Amino acid sequence: MVSVVFSSFSRERRFEDLTRAVQHCDLCGRLCQRTRVLSPSNGNLHSRVLFIAEAPGRLGADRTGIPLFGDQTGMNFERLLGNIKWRREQVFITNAVLCNPRNELGTNGTPTLQELRNCSSYLDMTITLVDPAVVVTLGKVALASLSYLKPHGFELQNDVGQLRPWNGYLVMPLYHPGPRALIRRSSAKQTSDFVALANAVDPVGGLKKKATGSTRFRVPQSRLDPPTLTPEANVALTVIEFLGQLSYFKLTKMLYLIDLSARQELGHTLTGMTYIRQQDGPWAPSLTRAMNNLSDFEILWTTIGKLPNVRSGPSPRIRPQLDEREADLVLRAVKKYGSLSNTGIKIAAYRTKPMQYVLKAEAAGLSMLNKPVLSGNSTCDELDDTAPSSLTTARPDLVDSCPEHSDD
Ligand code: SF4
Repeated sequence: MVSVVFSSFSRERRFEDLTRAVQHCDLCGRLCQRTRVLSPSNGNLHSRVLFIAEAPGRLGADRTGIPLFGDQTGMNFERLLGNIKWRREQVFITNAVLCNPRNELGTNGTPTLQELRNCSSYLDMTITLVDPAVVVTLGKVALASLSYLKPHGFELQNDVGQLRPWNGYLVMPLYHPGPRALIRRSSAKQTSDFVALANAVDPVGGLKKKATGSTRFRVPQSRLDPPTLTPEANVALTVIEFLGQLSYFKLTKMLYLIDLSARQELGHTLTGMTYIRQQDGPWAPSLTRAMNNLSDFEILWTTIGKLPNVRSGPSPRIRPQLDEREADLVLRAVKKYGSLSNTGIKIAAYRTKPMQYVLKAEAAGLSMLNKPVLSGNSTCDELDDTAPSSLTTARPDLVDSCPEHSDD
């Protein structure tokens, strides 16, 4: 590839260097005879918004040299822009690959992974050069192309219309405006996605305060700095790394079960958290704070069936660190409980000795709500010296009568 040195010249001068390099590029055998769509017609180099589409269209940019222009996709895109009162010359538009891919029939094809990889350096240089507040990806391929520059875990279906931090920028994944994408995202929904975009950012003024709580164009540095890896964050991240995604309910119960096992095997819990008796079993109040400190980077919050879920995030600033014995213990817990439903793991938690104690105390008329079930290395039966011995003997019938959890 022709080497491009990004010197301290003006943005326009550096863009000239870049477009010149692109015009000589022949990295992709099947694409290099096509128009390389990168020129001043791509838009405003000083825009705060940079759009990335998939590839130049046969009847559109390959013919006109202007991205998202000249075909039905271009008309759809201009209608969406017009609805939010933006003009093409206010934004910068590029593609994941700069040349038009065609299939055997001669119609528009999909770029291969190798072609996406080949063109990723140009995409990287373009983003660096324009330095937008928000990168808007149009369609699945455009979103995937960013992961060649820095891996992310965004999924179009889950993250559409949301601002997500990525590589020091904010990314908003949207659907492609082409006619085929209308099957997955109706025209009305695409119109409202663009309204969400306009509510978040202005192509001239940058990020809007209400979108981020900040008028800064970039994610504040303090958000990019790694947070303190608390013991509960350490174990929670390890579980999420193993499982990918799980309900927050299940994560809480899983940590409780892990802590009880660690106490038995290693002589101490891994998190040191206090779990209190809540209606649905042991609950750790400090976990929510720890998870919020990791959100948007190490983890993402999602909702499935109205239940909060957590999943691996796109841009980890820290990685969990457990020693060999701790990691082995967590892995065994993941294997044992990872496939259980919310109800299943709740029953597993209720079968533990401390929860048996709680259930029997409640059956005896004591109020245990908000009382510690496990606190540091001590369990509730040990904490309560005055507990009658009848409360410390297991009664499986109380487990069987525990109410079904409605979260499944
Ligand atoms: S798609 Fe990109 S990498 Fe491939 S030939 Fe065109 S300019 Fe070069």
